[in-house]
Amino acid sequence: MDTIVRKKIRFFYYTAALVTMAVVALAVSVPYFIDSRKNYDLLISEIENSIIFWHRTTLKQSVTRTISEIETIRSLTRAEFKALCDAQARAFSRLDAQDVQALAAPRHDGSPALRGIPLTLADAGVVIREQATGRVVWTNGRQDADAFAQDGPGEGAAYPVTATAPLPQGLAVTLFFQAASLDALAKARAKALIRAIRFDQGSYIWVNEILNYAGGDNYAIRAVNPNLPETEGNPLSTNTPDIHGNFPYKEELEGINRDGDLYFTYYFKKLGSMEITQKLAYAKLYKPFDWIVATGVYMDDIEAVILKRKLALTEAYAAQVRSFIILMAAVFVVCVTLFYVFERRVNAMVSSFVSRLHENEQELVQKNDRLTAAYTQLEHVAYHDFLTGLLNRHAMSDRIGEEFSRSARSGASFCLILADIDEFKRINDTMGHDVGDQVLAKAANRLRKNLRHEDVAARWGGEEFLILATACTLEKGVILAEKLRAVVEGRPIRVGEAALNVTMTFGVAAYAPGKTFDELLKDVDLRLYDGKRGGRNRVVSDACA
Ligand code: GH3
Ligand code: MG
Ligand code: MG
Repeated sequence: MDTIVRKKIRFFYYTAALVTMAVVALAVSVPYFIDSRKNYDLLISEIENSIIFWHRTTLKQSVTRTISEIETIRSLTRAEFKALCDAQARAFSRLDAQDVQALAAPRHDGSPALRGIPLTLADAGVVIREQATGRVVWTNGRQDADAFAQDGPGEGAAYPVTATAPLPQGLAVTLFFQAASLDALAKARAKALIRAIRFDQGSYIWVNEILNYAGGDNYAIRAVNPNLPETEGNPLSTNTPDIHGNFPYKEELEGINRDGDLYFTYYFKKLGSMEITQKLAYAKLYKPFDWIVATGVYMDDIEAVILKRKLALTEAYAAQVRSFIILMAAVFVVCVTLFYVFERRVNAMVSSFVSRLHENEQELVQKNDRLTAAYTQLEHVAYHDFLTGLLNRHAMSDRIGEEFSRSARSGASFCLILADIDEFKRINDTMGHDVGDQVLAKAANRLRKNLRHEDVAARWGGEEFLILATACTLEKGVILAEKLRAVVEGRPIRVGEAALNVTMTFGVAAYAPGKTFDELLKDVDLRLYDGKRGGRNRVVSDACA
């Protein structure tokens, strides 16, 4: 097959294979990449949400746990003072009323009863009553002792810790602590604990104590703030904005009033630095102390964690994409190899098929050549005389028939010349038949050589030759015949050693419209006969007749 055609087929084969692979690769990889990208984006947003959610939960847990610790401190403080009161009451019960009064008389050391820290038994209120009537006999003179004496115990929340013991002479002594003073001690203890609390990433707990739930200037005081310890005790205002013009104290108070707790964001300085960053905070009210207990985390810390996770995920995503690309490349290489091997094999098969076709074709061509040669030979044999190589009678008849048709159409003239070797029988008889054959062949050759290109000669009978001279008048035909006669006579015919003087007699007739082939043949035959009769070696025509 043509190399160019093969190259073209190979080009189309590989182009089709590559285009198919590209289409398949696109069909597989585009949905894969879109899906992976979607999953990646989804995971990123889930990670963001879960990290923020985790931080919110952690903030809430920290505050809730701190509040339960405050609660514990408060109840332990009350339990501690209840035990003290009980012990003291039991001690008083072994004394008389005067001794009790002496011991429980207020100390005039200038310190207020409710100075709070540290609270001691000396800060207890003491009342002596008549057991039967409940009439107050003595108080230790404190304002709240007088009030407690008048109202009596059992007011619960206002006086959570009381202890009563009988005295001689039908009296009874009662010791009590005011809730406010116990809570003041509990607050002091809780503050100390809260100041010590530190969480990860510089997180801490802070406490604002509400004075006025309606807000405004001095609505609270900063009770605990490990970040700004020097500002503890400072009044706070809901009108104070942060650096972005938001009012975090106002937002916080509104949330506390509404729900008891809230999440909010605001801008505040970082612990241990002067940098101002955004904080996510959770605050919850501890109502018994009017404390807003809060903690927060810096958003940039959260974002750093998110970024770290994002980087890890991005790396995993990139690795996944890399693996996919490597897989695709491997599949590509395998496919190209298979295509290549397949193409080579098909090519080899086609090549062997084509070369077999070639061989067959060449065989066919050779056979055809042989057939053509045989046919040409057959045709030659069919139309030519074997001995002289001139046309035979059959071929000459066809040829003259054609000439009759042409002349009938065009009116052009032609001549027939019938030539016969003179006394040929004698040559045969004297020299032998073989010499006769050679004389025949050589005489025929002389005739043929001296004809015009457009004229034809045929062996008409034994030693008779018929010549067709086309486009020829009778006159020209006679001249031609004369020329031929002279040529034959002019030179002896050599056969081997022998040189034979041979002559021929010619009859000439011209075509005339209306004359048939047979009539014309008869004409030349008669003229030849006339020639023989007239002495041979001559040309005789109608014009002579
Ligand atoms: P004429 O001048 O009247 O033509 O006398 P001729 O002897 O030529 O004529 P004739 O008709 O008496 O003799 C012709 C001879 O030609 C007879 C025949 O044997 C011989 N002849 C015919 N065909 C062939 C041939 O193919 N080869 C040979 N050698 N002789 C042939
Ligand atoms: Mg003869
Ligand atoms: Mg004859």
